[in-house]
Parts: sequence; C-alpha cells; structure tokens
Amino acid sequence: MTKHDTPSLGQTLAAGLAGRCPACGRGKMFSGYLTVAPRCTVCGLDYGFAEAGDGPAVFVILVTGFIVVGAALLVEVVYAPPYWLHALIWGPLAILLPLLLLRSFKGVLIALQYKHKAQEGQLASE
Ligand SMILES: [Zn+2]
Repeated sequence: MTKHDTPSLGQTLAAGLAGRCPACGRGKMFSGYLTVAPRCTVCGLDYGFAEAGDGPAVFVILVTGFIVVGAALLVEVVYAPPYWLHALIWGPLAILLPLLLLRSFKGVLIALQYKHKAQEGQLASE
C-alpha cells in the first residue's frame, strides 16, 4: 500500500488494531501507550487530523461490560461460587481488559477517521 492508495476497510481496521499508520500500514501510529505520534515515520502522514475523543473509551466500556458481566452471570448461574471468588476473578479482568483494548480501539477509530476523511463539524458561516 502506498501513500496515495485508498486503503480498503479491512486494511484500515487491521492497521488500526495493530497501531499502524492507516495510509501506509507500516509506520507507528502511537509514540506512547495512547499518545498519537506527530507523524508517520515511514510515509510522513501528519496525524494532526487524529482526534478520537472519548469514542474509544465508550466502546471499551461497552465491550468490557458485556464480556465481564455476561461471564459473571453465566458463572453465577452454572457454578454459584462464593462472592469473594467473583471479586477475585472479575475485578482484575474488569481492570485489565480495558487496558488491553483501549489502544487498539483508539487505533481503529483514528484509522477510520483517516479513511473517511472525518473531521470536526463547522458552521456554514465559517
Ligand atoms: Zn505511514
């Protein structure tokens, strides 16, 4: 994929999940855990357009809640373990799962921003 090719949706999602540049698929999107790099080190794409806002956190909360609460309910119905065991299992999972998912979700949203040329809305008079 070169800088001027329009990436497919699959390429965009794969690049975002891996934290790679949505334009070339090789450069790094992040310079820290969640800090977006100023530009791609391979193709030079300026990440100034990248503004995922609270979107990744919302999706992570929804996905993590579905997994943790669903699994906790299933385990309660099937095995009925003591509450301390629930806390021991689901507490750490509810903390670790968002930490694992957040970077990938942010990468996907930024990659989708790039693919669809999404930007902040402006008033017609501006
Ligand atoms: Zn790039």
